[in-house]
Amino acid sequence: MTSLEKIVHLSTQSKYDVIGDEGTIFKDIDLSKVDTLGQGTKHDICTSSSTKREVYQDGILGNVSRSGICHSFTPNGRCVSMFKTLFTNYCTHDCKYCQNSKEYKGTKRIYSYTPEELARLTISLYKGNYIEGLFLSSGISSDEDLITEKMIETLMILKNKYRYAGYIHFKILPGVSYEHIKQASEIADRLSVNIETPSDAYMSELSSTKSYINDILKRQNFIKKLELKKNLPAGQTTQIVVGACGESDLDIFKRMLKEYKEMILKRVYYSVFSPVSGTPLEKISAQPTWREHRLYQMDWLYRVYNFSEKEIKIAFDDGGFLKNNDPKLKIALNTLDSSFDPNEASYDELLRIPGIGPKSAYRIINYRKNNKIYKKEQLLNLGVQLKKALPFLKVNGWEYTRIDRWLECNQ
Ligand code: SF4
Repeated sequence: MTSLEKIVHLSTQSKYDVIGDEGTIFKDIDLSKVDTLGQGTKHDICTSSSTKREVYQDGILGNVSRSGICHSFTPNGRCVSMFKTLFTNYCTHDCKYCQNSKEYKGTKRIYSYTPEELARLTISLYKGNYIEGLFLSSGISSDEDLITEKMIETLMILKNKYRYAGYIHFKILPGVSYEHIKQASEIADRLSVNIETPSDAYMSELSSTKSYINDILKRQNFIKKLELKKNLPAGQTTQIVVGACGESDLDIFKRMLKEYKEMILKRVYYSVFSPVSGTPLEKISAQPTWREHRLYQMDWLYRVYNFSEKEIKIAFDDGGFLKNNDPKLKIALNTLDSSFDPNEASYDELLRIPGIGPKSAYRIINYRKNNKIYKKEQLLNLGVQLKKALPFLKVNGWEYTRIDRWLECNQ
């Protein structure tokens, strides 16, 4: 029994679960449906990777890899647990990496919720304190507008009948109409369309049924316009499946720039390709998880550290790939000629030193208003990662570690 099944099962058993008049709410729900539609979202990412742990074993607590309930962050940084599910796993598209695709050759049962059923399940998990939000996606039957109508109906039932005011991340299905996107934007906190690949050409390698320009980019533009006009408090996001069609990290970086600059996205998420048995890509090797991690670091350098496009490009090798080491360190080694005195360096200079992030840079600047930094222990107290930072710092006139020596130690 999976973790989500267990929750549903326990909820049906426990007389202490306060779920109002809906006490028998789970009675009619097929648990294999809950499990299948939860697992159907496993390629949908709503937060960045933060762990390498993979605990997936019945009877073990702390499962961080299975689908069903996942975590995301609200605009104010709060972590919320979300019920992540498809509305249906029936799909008429042919994305080569996806187990919901019509090209999938494995054994599969097709399931769909009704809007009322999914709303009741969500509200019961919410009232049972298992979740704080809903992440709703879906396979796409021949009519994306029809499925979207049912997904929106689910949200309406949640809001109007059950008075639900929790967080909602709603997936916009490729090709769906502007009117439906507008309706969803009036209820959901966050909307996203998955771009999956960095370009039209790569998309055509993965799917013959989805148009990158019309079905995806055009819908992102619709969301952008709606977001600029009014609510959608958590904005728009997207995700890229990394390594399913041989694209380089530089290709992904260029797409990322367009997503942030032109579509004004809040976040781009990266999900390394992992082959699913029964799909046309089942024999393609899984991508290493460190690739995802390095892409997130590159993304942060652009989005949070305000590194320029030119600076970030230094991190890529001649083939356009990131190596499995810190891109900020590679940029520093190639651009910082001398060591910095933390008493004098500007905020931007401090940010370019490995081991110093926005918080520690602010702390240094505040601290030195009334104090002089003359020993490395002060930097440690201000949150600096000394091992990474010292080769680039000069404290009290003393360079603790020469860059060439540091390099020798870290090769
Ligand atoms: S559109 Fe593609 S990725 Fe999405 S569910 Fe259908 S086959 Fe899978």
